[in-house]
Amino acid sequence: MEVTRRSLLDFALRGGAAACGLTAARRMMLLDLLAEDAADPAPFQIARVEYAAEKGRMLSRLGFGMMRLPMKGKDIDEELSGKLVDYAYRHGVNYFDTAWFYIGGKSQYYTGKVLEKYDRKSLFIVNKLPGNPGCRSLEKAKETFATQLKACRTDYFDNYLCHAIGNWGAFKRGYLGLGIIDYLKSERDKGRIRHLGFSFHGGKDDLRHFLDLKDQIGWEFVMLQLNADDWKGDGRTFYEMVVEAGLPVMVMEPLHGGRLAKVNVGARKKLEELKPGLSPAGWAFRFVTSLKNVTVALSGMSSMSDVIDNINTFRDWKPLTDEETKSYFDICAKYQGKNLIPCTGCEYCIPCPHSVKIPEIFGLVNMMRIEGKLGPDGDGRGMSAADRKKFLVMYKNKLGTHADASCCTSCGTCLEKCPQRVKIVEELQNVVALVDRVKKGGRG
Ligand code: SF4
Ligand code: SF4
Repeated sequence: MEVTRRSLLDFALRGGAAACGLTAARRMMLLDLLAEDAADPAPFQIARVEYAAEKGRMLSRLGFGMMRLPMKGKDIDEELSGKLVDYAYRHGVNYFDTAWFYIGGKSQYYTGKVLEKYDRKSLFIVNKLPGNPGCRSLEKAKETFATQLKACRTDYFDNYLCHAIGNWGAFKRGYLGLGIIDYLKSERDKGRIRHLGFSFHGGKDDLRHFLDLKDQIGWEFVMLQLNADDWKGDGRTFYEMVVEAGLPVMVMEPLHGGRLAKVNVGARKKLEELKPGLSPAGWAFRFVTSLKNVTVALSGMSSMSDVIDNINTFRDWKPLTDEETKSYFDICAKYQGKNLIPCTGCEYCIPCPHSVKIPEIFGLVNMMRIEGKLGPDGDGRGMSAADRKKFLVMYKNKLGTHADASCCTSCGTCLEKCPQRVKIVEELQNVVALVDRVKKGGRG
């Protein structure tokens, strides 16, 4: 594919995180350009990596996370999503990751539908057993697994995960106590699960317990949240524990919910000087995939510009040198916004019974902090009049009056659902105070 066509594709979607934000004209232009690309008989291929658990499986280093597909209202924009998937597949992406809850339950059905036209052997389809309903009883686990195979229109999953486990006590009661792990092992024996692993959101002690079961259960990989932000905290510890256990690592949230792709202007300029042509998202992907044992980094791609940028990153993939990694961290540290809320925008916490748009609120505040528009400390003090006005307009336009932070009743329903352990109620109260301060001109 010619660079000029890629640039046009990029242009067609620039500025829109999701297809629902496209004008009709840009959407038409995008679809035309993608049709042209689809006619290219020999598109370039991205880097693949041999999967440590089974020699000979060549997984694309970039995995397609099927959780942030372009939407048309409440439904997946199947035409545009299909083009994104097709473009990715034609350029070598072969790892597709879905789950029961993604896109309100629609993702796994769409994953089956969109991938059905490809040779099954050329694909790696990944799904996960949800805690609810999957772990309520052994019968529910069996029912859930059967539903997932049917939804994905496949006889087997290449990788299957215990989804978002983190609490050792709950795992012992559910997965072990109810015989669910034995059932998953029996499905592996039958070949309907090719590789069994888990995705993890918990503490160090919990992870130690799960890894201690490596031989008993036969874990073959672990999916971890890993990115330059998390590297400073538990992320690195968890990664090192999994590597020490000798397991491959699949990476989720390599961009930390998109935050590492949306660095401020200063950081973007510095990164561009260091490696012309490599985007901030590209730096984040290169960092995680340069780490030992990391096989695949997932990206929940929602626009063609995401797909193109990511594929370009992995087209000429090379690990970062130690010097490049150091520079990357220095730039991130120097230019990162202050007091960012550790929200990745995953939407696990919604719907809120009081309609609070939690991910949108945190996303807006973080974006303004990254851009340095909420004052030097990100607390609304020392803002320019223009930034105050901009923030208040965006806050009102995005949230209205029935979904903003002040609508939170502190009921706590959302807290358990957050894999990042965000102190949602506290953070929302901080946002209420922030908005109030901005309205008062930065005082209070
Ligand atoms: S604590 Fe607040 S944000 Fe969370 S579910 Fe309850 S009302 Fe919604
Ligand atoms: S608050 Fe937590 S659950 Fe909600 S979107 Fe952010 S990270 Fe996800």
